[in-house]
Amino acid sequence: MEYTLNNEYLNGLMQKTIAKNPSEPEFYQAVHEFLTSVEAIIDQHPEFISEKILERIIEPERVIMFRVPWVDDKGEIQVNKGFRVQFNSAIGPYKGGIRLHPSVNLGILKFLGFEQIFKNSLTTLPMGGGKGGSDFDPKGKSDREVMAFCQSFMRELCKHIGPDTDVPAGDIGTGAREIGYMFGQYKKIRNEFTGVLTGKGLTFGGSLARTEATGYGLCYFTSCMLAKKGTSFAGKTVVISGAGNVAIYATEKAQQLGAKVVALCDSTGYVYDPDGIKLDIVKDIKEVKRQRISEYAKQVPTAKYEDGCHGIWSIPCDIALPCATQNELDLDAAKTLVANGCKVVAEGANMPSTPEAIAYFQANGVYFAPGKASNAGGVATSGLEMSQNSERLSWTFEEVDAKLKSIMESIFKAADETATKIGHEDNLVMGANIAGLLKVADAMLAQGVI
Ligand code: NDP
Repeated sequence: MEYTLNNEYLNGLMQKTIAKNPSEPEFYQAVHEFLTSVEAIIDQHPEFISEKILERIIEPERVIMFRVPWVDDKGEIQVNKGFRVQFNSAIGPYKGGIRLHPSVNLGILKFLGFEQIFKNSLTTLPMGGGKGGSDFDPKGKSDREVMAFCQSFMRELCKHIGPDTDVPAGDIGTGAREIGYMFGQYKKIRNEFTGVLTGKGLTFGGSLARTEATGYGLCYFTSCMLAKKGTSFAGKTVVISGAGNVAIYATEKAQQLGAKVVALCDSTGYVYDPDGIKLDIVKDIKEVKRQRISEYAKQVPTAKYEDGCHGIWSIPCDIALPCATQNELDLDAAKTLVANGCKVVAEGANMPSTPEAIAYFQANGVYFAPGKASNAGGVATSGLEMSQNSERLSWTFEEVDAKLKSIMESIFKAADETATKIGHEDNLVMGANIAGLLKVADAMLAQGVI
């Protein structure tokens, strides 16, 4: 991929970013998308250039890398890499998930942390951007092994985080179990019971509706897009990739709003159920038994299973919600979706669509929403969990869900109105990047060169 820009200054900045951060393609992709949006407004903001706002925003405030040794069930010592990227704290404590997946490296966490800055800004809550993780793979590990890893990971991480400093949360591979083990270890070492992690269990400070928040929020955001086009989820056919936290609760809300979700996948393959996915069966397979999605086709006679996940995009649908991982939806997939009549794509995962796929959607009348806007419901509800922890109160499911819905509507409004204001109506990529940037840049300008 060529990471060039028309604006000379921004192009120079992009090339410097590549030179200074070798072998981080996902980070270049995220920065390039952001700078492409900034091209539309850079002439109106000479202070961004004189005060080096963009140079500063692209450089993380701090990166922590550490060794994570732990002992497996055979008594052997295993060693993983641990990371925390504290990207930007201009508008609040660093906030962002912890990813546990064998593919994790610094470049991936930098792309995620960078996007998190603008996403968190869009939520209207006071949260800076960060991200962390490890190349540890929880799949196939016993609960004791996962606990041993999480405790070792937190032994180092606890020196760098805190409820007013940096508040990590879940992400791929980090669910309620892992957050519980990490929270327990933090509490033990620091001897303090504080809201240092979000996504906690309900008996120790977690928020109702946090589990559902990213998937539900995605559907609330998509409903705003559909409403702008005079329609709704009712009667629509939806394809959702992934079968994890985001995909499951996006399916639940889309179904509640009257849509038929016909496909889900995991990293080994996808299931197609033309009768509509039976979510109770998926939850049992994925949340309770931690099995592969192929199990679904063994239990449901109307469903078919296919190896490989890319084929999921060949299933005809009105709405596609990619909710698995970065770059899972490429140009070929975009062409197939368009040819099959798909009209709306909203990202539940972070950066699941390649730049070529996004360009194709935008050129072919597909209304497209980037993850940093449409999947912000998870971190927004994490922000609500922080508020509840500070107040030492728990809000009802209905209260949290109503706040989530109203935040998603305000994110849509901000991205939509900003896109229109800069002359790119319906370009939610530009709208989200610029609306997110303006608030962070304002705070950075006010706080001086730090
Ligand atoms: P989970 O670990 O719960 O689920 C991830 C799902 O995606 C699993 O079904 C996994 O399959 C699948 N998957 C992972 N890698 C691939 C791949 N290469 N190809 C196909 N499928 C794959 O994670 P989440 O649902 O929490 O996260 C999904 C996405 O949403 C990520 O991009 C994450 O950053 C983003 N996100 C999550 C938020 C949250 O609150 N959880 C908030 C905002 C964004 P398998 O089990 O086989 O690995």
